[in-house]
Amino acid sequence: MKTIIQMKSIKEIQSCRNCNLCANQKPLLDKSINAEVFWVGLSAVKVNNVKSDTPLSPRTNTGKLISEIEKCNQQYRFYKTNLVKCLPLDNDKIRYPNKAEMNKCYSNLDFEIRKGKPKIVILLGKVVIDFVSKIINLTKAKLNDNFNYETFKIDDTIYIPVHHPSYILVYKRKRIEEYIGNISQILANFVIS
Ligand code: SF4
Repeated sequence: MKTIIQMKSIKEIQSCRNCNLCANQKPLLDKSINAEVFWVGLSAVKVNNVKSDTPLSPRTNTGKLISEIEKCNQQYRFYKTNLVKCLPLDNDKIRYPNKAEMNKCYSNLDFEIRKGKPKIVILLGKVVIDFVSKIINLTKAKLNDNFNYETFKIDDTIYIPVHHPSYILVYKRKRIEEYIGNISQILANFVIS
């Protein structure tokens, strides 16, 4: 298992300079980490103001779909974050973060999960699933086209790898209701005290 630098506070993440991406945009974080369910996307998008905006914001198509799922599950508090907190750019165009950037930023996600102690962590999309799975030894995490998502218990947290909303919006648009319904059903199956 990889050695993870242990971050000590949200403030430390806000001022993180572990890689060059902070030159594009400072780390983008959600407001309150006190939540039962965490969404984990890949990397930040460009925002007007990192202090007032949030990751996976409903202003984006991905965020809108996530909001739909949240509306169906109002018994939970949700926290949204990304594996990579800053903005990956190439010649001013947004790109996927590379492995080195994901490696450098993972300590921040590790801190958020240790601090927030969510009951459920939803991993969005194959890149996030593959990366996080290797670190936490989630060896069997696979996505299937039936949206029959598996759950994995690691310590006291349930991890749920699911398709990324953008994949659903582009390739499975006709099945959005099924996607929302299946994730909601899994969330409903966990009684959280
Ligand atoms: S992307 Fe992550 S590791 Fe890099 S500076 Fe931003 S918060 Fe730090």
